[in-house]
Amino acid sequence: MLADPASSPLAEQWRQRDLSVVWHPCTQMREHPHTLPLIPIARGEGAWLIGHDGRHYLDAVSSWWTNLFGHTEPRIGAAIARQATCLEQVMLAGFSHEPAITLAERLLALAPRQPGRAPLTKVFYADNGSAGVEVALKMAFHYFHNRGETGRTRFVALENGYHGETLGALAVGDIPLYRRVYAPLLAEALFAPSPDAYQAAPGQTAAGRAQQAADGLADLFERHPGQICAVILEPLLQCAGGMRMHDPLYLKRARELCDAHGAFLIADEIATGFGRTGTLFACEQAGVMPDLLCLSKGLTGGFLPLSAVLTTQRLYDAFLDDSRERAFLHSHSYTGNPLACAAALATLDIFASDDVIARNRGTAGVMRELAAPFTDHPHIADVRQTGMVVAFELARDSDRTTPFPASARVGLHVYRAALARGVVLRPLGDVVYWMPPYCIDDAQLALLAQTTLAAINEGIACA
Ligand SMILES: *Cc1c(COP(=O)(O)O)cnc(C)c1O
Repeated sequence: MLADPASSPLAEQWRQRDLSVVWHPCTQMREHPHTLPLIPIARGEGAWLIGHDGRHYLDAVSSWWTNLFGHTEPRIGAAIARQATCLEQVMLAGFSHEPAITLAERLLALAPRQPGRAPLTKVFYADNGSAGVEVALKMAFHYFHNRGETGRTRFVALENGYHGETLGALAVGDIPLYRRVYAPLLAEALFAPSPDAYQAAPGQTAAGRAQQAADGLADLFERHPGQICAVILEPLLQCAGGMRMHDPLYLKRARELCDAHGAFLIADEIATGFGRTGTLFACEQAGVMPDLLCLSKGLTGGFLPLSAVLTTQRLYDAFLDDSRERAFLHSHSYTGNPLACAAALATLDIFASDDVIARNRGTAGVMRELAAPFTDHPHIADVRQTGMVVAFELARDSDRTTPFPASARVGLHVYRAALARGVVLRPLGDVVYWMPPYCIDDAQLALLAQTTLAAINEGIACA
C-alpha cells in the first residue's frame, strides 16, 4: 500500500532535484526517499495538499500547526497581494507602517485579560516562533537587569515543554531528541514538573496532577529565592511533547506563584493560540493573563512567518532611559514585515467575519465523536482532546504501562501507512494526533478517522 515514489515521472524529477540540493528540517536525510517518502507538493487547496502526480493528501496536521483556514485561503492571499503592490518591506527601526500598527492594536484588543491586572499594551515583532521566544526571554531578563536586580538570571521551564530550536529556546525546552546534542551550549534552565494529565498517578485526577506539579513549581521558587526572572510554559497543551494536556488550574497556580515571587509568566501560545484549544488563546480558559505572550504559527493563517510578543506597560517602562544599553536592542531584518502583518490582519478579519471560534465548537464535537471508538483499541492507551486537537497515545498494552520500544518506530510506520492512503498524520513519537485546518468538513473528518484507524493497525503490524 506504500506510495510508489516512481509512480509519476514529474514527481520523481522534483524528488531527485530536491535531494541533490535541499537539506530538510527535522529529518535524517539518509532515510529519504526509501524509508521516508519525500513528496513534492505542487499546490494546496483547503484541507488538501496536492502532489505533482495529482495525488491529494489531507493535511491533518495543518502543515506543522500553522494553517488555520485551509491552504491558499483566497482572502489572505489577496491581502498579501494588495500589500505587495504598496509596501513589501521597510525596517521597523526609525520607520513604521500601517499593517504593523493596526495589527498591534488589534492583537492587544484581543489578548487575554485578568481582573485586577493592567492589560498587555505593547507588541514587539519578530519573524518566527523561536525568535519570539528569544525576545520574551531576553526582555524578562533585561527588565530585572535594568531594575538593578542582577541576581535574577534563571528561567523556569516545564518538563516535556518545547519552545523552538534556537539556542535560547532550546535551553528552555525539554525534549531530549532535539536538545541532547546541544546541551553543552545551552544556558542552564530550571525544570519544573509537567502538569501533564497523562502522567497522573493511578486514581489521580487531572486537577490533582496539576496541583502536584504546581507544588513542584512552588518548591523551585523556594529553593531559588530572588533568582528566577520568568516561568515559561505552553498553556493547556504541550504540543511537541506529544500533545500532552493539563488542567487550567495549573496556569492559575503558576500565575499566583510568579506574582508571589516577583517573576514574570511567559505564555508561549505559538501553537495553542488562534483557536486551537477552543478559545482564541488558551490562557483564557484559566482566566490568566501572562506578562509576556508569544504568538506565531497561526498568526498569519499559515501564510508567512511572523511572530509577536505582547507585554505590559510596566515591563516596557523599565527600558526607558537615556542610555542605549537599557533599551531593548534586539532586532531581525524582517521585524514586522508588512506582507506578514497584512496576512495576520486578514486572519483576524476571518476570525471576526466567520465566527470561527463558535463554528469550531461544532467541528470539535464531530472530532470527539469520531475519536470516541478509539478508546476501545487494544493498543491505544489514551484518547484526549483539547478543542481542535485530538491525540491518541499508542502503547504495546492499553494499560499505559508498556510503550512500544523506540526501535520499533511505530510512529514512522503509521506515518507511511497514512500517507499511502492520502492523509498527512505526522506522529510525535508514538502519539498520533489530529490538528486539522478549521475548514475541514465532516466527510474529510470521517476519512481522517477511518484512515487513522487503518494506519495505526498497519503501523503496529509492521513494527
Ligand atoms: C513551533 C513552536 C515554537 C517555535 O516556532 P518556530 O516558528 O518553529 O521557530 C515555539 N514554541 C512552541 C510552543 C511551538 O509549538
